[in-house]
Amino acid sequence: MKAVQYREIGAAPQVVTVPDPEVGPGQVLLRMTAAGVCHSDIAVMSMPAEALRFPLPLTLGHEGVGAVAALGAGVSGFAVGDEVAVYGPWGCGSCAKCAQGKENYCLRAAGLGIFPPGLGAPGAMAQYMIVDDPRHLVPLDGLDPVAAVPLTDAGLTPYHAIKRSLPKLVPGATAVVIGTGGLGHVAIQLLRAMTTARVIALDVTEEKLALARAVGAHEAVLSDARAAATVRELTGGVGAELVLDFVGAPPTVATAGAVAAVEADVTLVGIGGGTLPVGFGSPAYEVSVSSPYWGSRSELSEVLALARAGSVAVHVETYGIDEAPLVYERLHAGKINGRAVILPNG
Ligand code: NAD
Ligand code: ZN
Ligand code: ZN
Repeated sequence: MKAVQYREIGAAPQVVTVPDPEVGPGQVLLRMTAAGVCHSDIAVMSMPAEALRFPLPLTLGHEGVGAVAALGAGVSGFAVGDEVAVYGPWGCGSCAKCAQGKENYCLRAAGLGIFPPGLGAPGAMAQYMIVDDPRHLVPLDGLDPVAAVPLTDAGLTPYHAIKRSLPKLVPGATAVVIGTGGLGHVAIQLLRAMTTARVIALDVTEEKLALARAVGAHEAVLSDARAAATVRELTGGVGAELVLDFVGAPPTVATAGAVAAVEADVTLVGIGGGTLPVGFGSPAYEVSVSSPYWGSRSELSEVLALARAGSVAVHVETYGIDEAPLVYERLHAGKINGRAVILPNG
């Protein structure tokens, strides 16, 4: 089968032919319909060898949707042909966090060498993939596979980040979304669907700001040195009750801290290496700063339910598997609007 692999530290990903995977006991084989392209892959492919926790080659893709092609011995609950989304942050399945469905915070995954598909285990950017356990599968139940696949990360990650801050987003509150790309443009829709918050979006190009407005941002502001002052002006000096930073670079983290209202949540989702010093008086009083990772299994079901209800629609650009290396170049250059989706069997 064809697979998109990161094969050598620092080299571009390649489309290669590898043996078809064979399903083992307890596993599920999927024929992949769609795989989303996340900016985190670029971060992984920029890491020095000593920072990489798994061996290469790596089949990329941690957002996957496919049709069940074969069930391993002992697997029940699914039938061949079922269209399913893959819950990506695989854990041990039995520790205190996994027992709550929070496999993204598994206490034992690192020690047991368990990795998410596309981030250590063979991923979704291939014609077939192995899912280690049927508990990682969520039925699409009528959702379009291409529109649904980004929900497994670009939807789930902002959903988790927003849900934990819902008590702060009372009527009259403001939410700021920094970086309106794959995750950010879904975050805007989730905020509009789940809250009454006024949404202020920040990005660096007019094209991204246009998408932010189109998906529901009340205000779209150029992310420059003046952005924090502009957000302060737009909120009558108060600031925002929730700041979601989907870039996480030093300048955006500084902006995030500067626009946080008293008792706000500043949530750093982007992995751009920025940090926010916290001390008395800065950021504002009682601001909570956190850096969440992905989301829980039940939250994935909730995001898919929101999509079925028509409350969130991902803006997708589709590409064939042979175009995947080019798609990563476009993503790196900021040229993808919304989320790029690879069709491995398209
Ligand atoms: P993306 O490339 O689709 O979107 C990033 C957006 O940020 C783009 O629209 C870009 O124009 C914008 N941007 C760049 N610099 C900016 C600046 N200075 N100010 C404002 N906007 C700026 O990326 P994505 O796939 O949506 O991922 C976003 C980030 O979230 C990445 O860092 C990714 O690694 C990270 N991520 C984290 C998690 C997690 O669980 N914490 C999960 C998925 C992705
Ligand atoms: Zn991701
Ligand atoms: Zn666990």
